[in-house]
Amino acid sequence: MPRTHSGSCQCGAVAYEADLDLDGVIECNCSHCYRKGLALAFVSPAAFRLTSGEGSLSRHTFNTHRIEHLFCERCGVQSFARGQTPDGSPMVAINVRTLTDIEPWSWTAQRVDGRSF
Ligand SMILES: [Zn+2]
Repeated sequence: MPRTHSGSCQCGAVAYEADLDLDGVIECNCSHCYRKGLALAFVSPAAFRLTSGEGSLSRHTFNTHRIEHLFCERCGVQSFARGQTPDGSPMVAINVRTLTDIEPWSWTAQRVDGRSF
């Protein structure tokens, strides 16, 4: 069941709340996710609320440029990305490592072979 969690970048400029389920976390081995160590939970835009920091976000895109990887321009931490699911629905990918209300590693990620996609 999704629960409301809060999270932020390291310096706190970017903060958010998201209704998410820690049972569906994935880690991906693509050239981007693997380097950043992202552990991602996917939610609909309605389940995501950016509470501060829209103006502090820088973006990075690559490959098909369908996903905006958004990171804090001050501390460099990526809290989330905005993009689309394969069927075209908008989604937000939360980096659960930036959640501030759970213990570290209180989730288990499934490994996804994004490198081969
Ligand atoms: Zn920051």
